[in-house]
Amino acid sequence: MDLVGVASPEPGPAAAWGPSKVSGRRSWSTPALVTRAGSLGSEQLAKVIADLMLAQMLQMELTKNMTAQLTGRNTRDDPYDSKPVPTPKKDFIGKGKMISHQTIDECSIGRRMTWDELGMRFKLSNHVFQSYRERRSARLHEKRRHSTAEKAVDPKTRLLMYKMVNSGMLETITGCISTGKESVVFHAYGGSMEYEKEDSKVIPTECAIKVFKTTLNEFKNRDKYIKDDFRFKDRFSKLNPRKIIRMWAEKEMHNLTRMQRAGIPCPTVILLKKHILVMSFIGHDQVPAPKLKEVKLSSEEMKEAYYQTLHLMQQLYNECTLVHADLSEYNMLWHAGKVWLIDVSQSVEPTHPHGLEFLFRDCRNVSQFFQKGGVKEALSERELFNAVSGLNISADNEADFLAEIEALEKMNEDHVQKNGRKAASFLKDDGDPPVPYDE
Ligand code: ADP
Ligand code: MN
Repeated sequence: MDLVGVASPEPGPAAAWGPSKVSGRRSWSTPALVTRAGSLGSEQLAKVIADLMLAQMLQMELTKNMTAQLTGRNTRDDPYDSKPVPTPKKDFIGKGKMISHQTIDECSIGRRMTWDELGMRFKLSNHVFQSYRERRSARLHEKRRHSTAEKAVDPKTRLLMYKMVNSGMLETITGCISTGKESVVFHAYGGSMEYEKEDSKVIPTECAIKVFKTTLNEFKNRDKYIKDDFRFKDRFSKLNPRKIIRMWAEKEMHNLTRMQRAGIPCPTVILLKKHILVMSFIGHDQVPAPKLKEVKLSSEEMKEAYYQTLHLMQQLYNECTLVHADLSEYNMLWHAGKVWLIDVSQSVEPTHPHGLEFLFRDCRNVSQFFQKGGVKEALSERELFNAVSGLNISADNEADFLAEIEALEKMNEDHVQKNGRKAASFLKDDGDPPVPYDE
């Protein structure tokens, strides 16, 4: 199947299905057309050729009319020209006109080309075109349906995941638990391999695989979390976008490790491989533990969950020197009577230039959730902020409170500018360095 054959006036193998085989005449195809088609890059031509589907449709159309109509045909007495021109449908514009972007995309052609350039000096009737479109769209739909779980999983990622199974680290990857904007999470059964020889730890029976999406768009607005985080600052500027995404995975690993050490209920890190983080699965029998958002708790449990959350936030701040920065009922799971913290790739130290603002936002989410959930004991967002940070901001309205927070951040920044990394004394920083990661 060779679309070039249609364009080519020369008989020969390249024109296997084209009219040239029939006529061998140049008359139906102008020399100008040939020059233009000939000037296409080989890649573009390859793409055109590769679209077998379209070629087949065209062939059917052509075969019908080939002999009589193409023999002796020239642009002026083109039999199609004498017929009324069908009203062009949305994405189809007739001979010699530009094909719309959508059509070009569908044809996988790298730039805008005219039908002439494609070597199609005939009118492609709308029904043929529409039928091609429909069949193609059905195929795409089917493909999309199958690939929802694999959206972020490009072939390289799939290979890395496959290697995890092949090495015995994982037994099977059962399916996708969640597809978010920035990551896709899979469930897997752990293999029998030991992953840390010294401690002789075994892989948990059930694992979660968080694959950070390697498409960059979603991560652009997250720059502020990482580029001002001193732990990553020096490296940030030197990195290409792919590596920045790996850094998110790495950051989640470091943060989870700190939390684990402090005894905060959270997934245990098993392995980090590029942008893929394998951790223990919070849940049972492939069913992930429900988010606080989803679970229906009794008022007693709700109160219990609230006090646990308050304690977790304090531990996170004081023992891990971290602010979650995306804390809400969506990132807290309820499992075995406990609140578990997840999703900490964006978590920062309190000394981050916006660390306290992030903490305030977390406090607002938590406070609102539990207050709405009927927990009378739940502190207001400002009280919670003070209870977690140990700061004593006395402002009695939100605007002033935030202004004080920003003033503190500013003071700390100035202090850091003067004294290097050392945070101002009002912001505790135990200087706990991140755990170095060796691949
Ligand atoms: P994001 O919100 O950025 O997509 P999360 O880390 O919050 O990424 O993961 C998305 C969802 O996947 C969570 O809401 C949770 O339902 C599930 N999930 C993530 N990690 C685990 C885990 N370790 N165990 C069980 N479920 C998990
Ligand atoms: Mn999340």
